[in-house]
Amino acid sequence: MATAISQNGWSVIFTATDKNTTKIPHIVGRVRAGDVATIFTALVNFIHAHVEDVSKGADDWGGNVRPIRGKTTGYSNHASYTAIDINALQHPRGVEGTWTPAQASAIRQFLKDTLEGVVRFGEDYSRKLSLVDGMHFEINANAAAVARVAAKLRGEKAPSTTGKTPAKTPAITAATGSTTLLYQGNPKNSAARVRKLQAGLNRAFPAYSKFAGGGDGKFGPYAAQVVKEFQRRSGLKPDGVVGPTTIKGLRKHGINL
Ligand SMILES: [Zn+2]
Repeated sequence: MATAISQNGWSVIFTATDKNTTKIPHIVGRVRAGDVATIFTALVNFIHAHVEDVSKGADDWGGNVRPIRGKTTGYSNHASYTAIDINALQHPRGVEGTWTPAQASAIRQFLKDTLEGVVRFGEDYSRKLSLVDGMHFEINANAAAVARVAAKLRGEKAPSTTGKTPAKTPAITAATGSTTLLYQGNPKNSAARVRKLQAGLNRAFPAYSKFAGGGDGKFGPYAAQVVKEFQRRSGLKPDGVVGPTTIKGLRKHGINL
């Protein structure tokens, strides 16, 4: 008997067990255990911390064996437990623009830079392919690619490959958007914006920001510590990443990035 596969090529899980599926934070349903769970956990945590509260309500869904919506044949990626729906009631399928441009851009940047394109955003469904589906995120890569990104997220050394996977080339586009994330080690940090961040923190929070860096434009470990302290004191998740939520918080103190 051939294995049933969902639209993205992953095998359908007809019976969810603790071994092949698992729970991740904020998601009511279950997701595929292992690398897929690692990737979705990172995504949900990112969205919750920087884009929108995911903790409210029970409208965050995972695996479910069902056909592709609007079709009678073929399995939806939810059937392989490789898709999740986040804040489904706020981002209903078929409705465009339920995320603000800043939110959507922060999500896209995380999907591209951190998740390296292995997850597709339903908001970006090609109009001719399907209805836009803002709540929906799905694995869009094979097991090897997913394993490589998951290993990176877990801080492990990438699994050795046969050399077929090219090294990641940084995008050439300039990081000019004000929603571009700033964090330690981000190759796309804009020096000008980091300089503004450092100067602003030094000015607004002299008590704890003296190590933010004297405006050298480099987001180093001291700047990360000061950002974390700012986040802690502002009731934000202290992860040292300057994203939309932290940018909003900084703005209240006259720090405009
Ligand atoms: Zn979905």
